[in-house]
Amino acid sequence: MKPQASLCLGCSALDFPPRLRCHRCGGMQFASRLITSAEVAGVSRVHRGPPGCVHEHLVELWADGGLRLLAVARFAPPLGSRVQPVSADNGAIFISDPEAPEPRNSND
Ligand SMILES: [Zn+2]
Repeated sequence: MKPQASLCLGCSALDFPPRLRCHRCGGMQFASRLITSAEVAGVSRVHRGPPGCVHEHLVELWADGGLRLLAVARFAPPLGSRVQPVSADNGAIFISDPEAPEPRNSND
């Protein structure tokens, strides 16, 4: 599933994960916004990950509206490329490799 951000109805600030109170105006009314794509702003390789973890890269993403996210990936996407972040069942965000689809119930 696609990650959901919260859009403050008072000042249009975006937050991920969604908050109970807006960090900018203190408002408490929000709408949900799906994060459908984001630009790759940075990639780091994980040298010491948890045992069994298949995601070897941390990817900094900039989504529309200036929202910044941190995702995991099995590969290193090119800087500046557009990717589709996906939420895992455990709340982590990953970028699926088009050539090696992610399992749906990953516990990575
Ligand atoms: Zn606000």
